[in-house]
Amino acid sequence: MSYEENDKELERTNNLFRFLQGIMPDGYSVRKRTVPKLSAEQAWTVIWYLQNQYWQPDDAIKRCDICGDLYHSWQEGRCLDYGKAPCFFCDNCINTDVFKKKERSKLNPGRARRLVKIL
Ligand SMILES: [Zn+2]
Repeated sequence: MSYEENDKELERTNNLFRFLQGIMPDGYSVRKRTVPKLSAEQAWTVIWYLQNQYWQPDDAIKRCDICGDLYHSWQEGRCLDYGKAPCFFCDNCINTDVFKKKERSKLNPGRARRLVKIL
């Protein structure tokens, strides 16, 4: 996919993310009593389930574990996949202490290789 298509997919997914939290996209209105009112965590769980069961939205859309923003993982961010569960970081959160601590973890299989290179 092109950067433009990735941006559109990210925008559509952000609209769904906000919709599930009660913020209607432009041009849509629903009866007040039918407006979804999920928390951000619940809304993301719905999107994650749709990605896994129906392949939409594109599962390259990830949610940053630090700031909670959505991002397209083909264009930015990092995933540190070890320990109890994978951790996702958008570009804005890669320089945080949480990322650096997780990257230095003894569980990081890439850590030992990097130390060997340094030696
Ligand atoms: Zn972030």
